[in-house]
Amino acid sequence: MDKNMLYRSIPKVDVLLESKAVRGMIELYSRDTVMEAIRIETDKLRAFIGQCDDEEAARAQTEMLTAHIEMTVAAMHRPNMRMVVNGTGTILHTNLGRAPISGEHMKKVAAIATGYSNLEYNLEEGRRGERYSHFEKLLCKITGAEAAMAVNNNAAAVMLILSSLAKGGEVIVSRGELVEIGGKFRIPDVMEQSGATLVEVGTTNKTHYDDYENAVTEETKALLKVHTSNYRIVGFTDTVAVDELVPIAKKHDIPVIEDLGSGVLIDLSKYGLTYEPTVQDSIQKGADVVCFSGDKLLGGPQAGIIIGRKKYIDKMKKNQLTRALRIDKFTAATLELVLQEYLSEEKAVEHIPVLRMITKPLEEVTEEARELAGLLEAAGLPAQIRTEPCESQIGGGSLPLERIPSMAVAIRPEKISVPEFEERLRHLPVPVIPRTVNDTVLLDVRTLLKREFKLIAEQIKELDVLEETSLIASR
Ligand SMILES: *Cc1c(COP(=O)(O)O)cnc(C)c1O
Repeated sequence: MDKNMLYRSIPKVDVLLESKAVRGMIELYSRDTVMEAIRIETDKLRAFIGQCDDEEAARAQTEMLTAHIEMTVAAMHRPNMRMVVNGTGTILHTNLGRAPISGEHMKKVAAIATGYSNLEYNLEEGRRGERYSHFEKLLCKITGAEAAMAVNNNAAAVMLILSSLAKGGEVIVSRGELVEIGGKFRIPDVMEQSGATLVEVGTTNKTHYDDYENAVTEETKALLKVHTSNYRIVGFTDTVAVDELVPIAKKHDIPVIEDLGSGVLIDLSKYGLTYEPTVQDSIQKGADVVCFSGDKLLGGPQAGIIIGRKKYIDKMKKNQLTRALRIDKFTAATLELVLQEYLSEEKAVEHIPVLRMITKPLEEVTEEARELAGLLEAAGLPAQIRTEPCESQIGGGSLPLERIPSMAVAIRPEKISVPEFEERLRHLPVPVIPRTVNDTVLLDVRTLLKREFKLIAEQIKELDVLEETSLIASR
């Protein structure tokens, strides 16, 4: 075959630029990116012809040049961060953005963020206000605390608390609570960063009242309790509860700080989960300062919420670090909306996506799984499709042992391998992230949103995802 002729059949750049299709692309995108896409795709085509010994295939590839340029330039302009479908069954998936926010709440936030707002403006008095003012009273009402604020995330909250209350002094922590949360958040390291000195007491499995009592010195600035969010020590164990620490702290006029991690505001045992101490419990038992995440079991935006005695919260508000760790208007607005739902537990469970997923009865999940399986079956795909019982988990380092009975749609591809199917699902326009168990791809319906069902079925069908050759695989 005549390779030179094939090379010559590749349209020249100026010819391409004159074509209607490319002119349309320049109009829609930009001249620079279209030029870049032309360069990339003509190079690719040359390389293809170079190693190809099938003239027919080489010609077909040349025919596709304009289409490939279009795909490449479109990809350059497509935001890299986009929605994905979470079929993993892990409700608080840190890699997938933790807690989804409801559409109703986001609509209200959009109205605020697309214009100006009273983020730091006191409308009553016509002067500067505080960004925490929008949710401080709410937090106090819900938790029983005297004062509240929020920073970027809970890691920042722990740092700010220690820096404000214990810098240059000692903080006593049980050896059983020196946790690593993931993403390199380790209590001893955070402590060092904040300028406080860690004093470890007790052992990995047992810490007693006397251990704390005996460790207090002139230098002690606080007693710290940390929720061992992502692991459990079981068996021969003992810990000292917050209310037992309070008398020691009182005697020495120092605060008891509790890092609760997840920050549960409602009693989840009512919904069949293991009882998890609530934020209200912690305040009631006398903790002076409590912090927790906004985007774990609370179901809100990423934030580190700090509540407690006013004298301590005031100190934190004045700390220079607060300026560096402060939340933005999106977070402030979303946090207020989500917290408002907690004024009624019923509303919270209904309107906060994370709580709705956790509490959704198995019968309802099963019903939805049948619906999704039905849609996939109707598409006549080359795969075995059926519903299959599975277990969802909370994730995000919350309730690590908890498993929630759930229902999945199981898909066994007939023409391609499971890893290949998984990879293609990840490359869909709206990527689908499944869970793979025993050579079957599972879509746990508990973490799917109803509106995603049709989208999943249509994408799999229209892009021939389960066929040997697929539009997804070819690129
Ligand atoms: C998750 C967690 C953190 C970190 O919270 P982020 O909001 O992810 O920064 C800190 N402490 C505990 C106990 C946690 O569980």
